[in-house]
Amino acid sequence: MRVNYENTYPSICAQVNSAFQVTQLMEYVDWHPDKIVRNGDIFLAYCPIHRDEVFRTLALNPRNNTYQCRHVHCPGHHPADFLDLLQKLHNKPLPEVILDAVSHFTPQYFRLSDKQIAVLESLLQKN
Ligand SMILES: [Zn+2]
Repeated sequence: MRVNYENTYPSICAQVNSAFQVTQLMEYVDWHPDKIVRNGDIFLAYCPIHRDEVFRTLALNPRNNTYQCRHVHCPGHHPADFLDLLQKLHNKPLPEVILDAVSHFTPQYFRLSDKQIAVLESLLQKN
């Protein structure tokens, strides 16, 4: 039996996470996107999770689309992917966080098929 791995939930999450451009992610988050600076391979920004407006503690890595806040008391202190950042900010089930992003950026931005969106919607209905 052939399994369509692209339609599995972990695969969809990975596909969505990898599609984000750092600057567009921070514009979507809407926390001082104009204050992002590039430092070599990473981007530094004010952290929207602990709502910093002074220090650029948020490091965003565009190579694997992960982030880490350098503030030790921030919930974002442990490295995780961009979807985790959105989930910590929006405090919703992850399928809903993804579908919100899909409606903002369009399915084409993430190259999501109708079937993949249907998988996300079915996960949301179970919650
Ligand atoms: Zn933080």
